[in-house]
Amino acid sequence: MELEQTLHMARALVLADLSAGDVARADVVSLVEDAVAHRRWWVEQWPEGSEFVAGLVAQDVQDALLERYGRWPLCPVCVGGGDPHALEVEPELGADPHWVCAKTTVAVARVGALGSVVSGGGGRGPRRDREAEDEH
Ligand SMILES: [Zn+2]
Repeated sequence: MELEQTLHMARALVLADLSAGDVARADVVSLVEDAVAHRRWWVEQWPEGSEFVAGLVAQDVQDALLERYGRWPLCPVCVGGGDPHALEVEPELGADPHWVCAKTTVAVARVGALGSVVSGGGGRGPRRDREAEDEH
């Protein structure tokens, strides 16, 4: 059964993106756990939807963060434009989800790969987990 792997992967991808935005605090991680628990039920009802789980968990966490903390993840394409907005997951219900800027229709990164674009610039310095970087 691949259900556990699917859920574990979705959790890991979203946590990686949260770390990229430096918001992976304990209370935020619990939001991810809640979303994964909810989608566990969902995918048990509809196993064919397993490849959609990562994108759905990302959207669930995005919604939960919006209520508590505000918009996440902020669009790195439009940053500095004075009106920061959040990236959107596309497809909303599909495989291989990406974070997309709805304003410019730029696909910024795959879900789980936000760190590769966000941590390079901007005011918040990356703090940890840089061992994945290539040697120069
Ligand atoms: Zn944008």
